[in-house]
Amino acid sequence: MHELSLAYEVIELAKREVFKNQVTTIFEMEIEVGDLSGVEAVAFLSALEMIAKSTLLEHTLFHIIRQPATGRCSTCNLEFEMKERMATCPSCHSFPYEISGGQEFRVTSIVAE
Ligand SMILES: [Zn+2]
Repeated sequence: MHELSLAYEVIELAKREVFKNQVTTIFEMEIEVGDLSGVEAVAFLSALEMIAKSTLLEHTLFHIIRQPATGRCSTCNLEFEMKERMATCPSCHSFPYEISGGQEFRVTSIVAE
């Protein structure tokens, strides 16, 4: 399961931050997940919470910030939000010729003490 191994990576990263910055508690973590990043946000969050349970991130609040992608239709030039890689134009059902955003997968902030 892809989401599970990513969740392990995020937890490891958080642990490294804890040791590096000599903090004891991580209150919040914010992670950006693009809609086209291939990461399923809900599955990722539950994997994260499951792994965090037996670690020092047990009480950490995880925020998943979803980043939508925008496609531009190759036929009618309409700009539309893409929730998945194969999304087509809502007006004429053509594929977009240009896609921007939605590829992010990164930890954007850690609130610790
Ligand atoms: Zn179109």
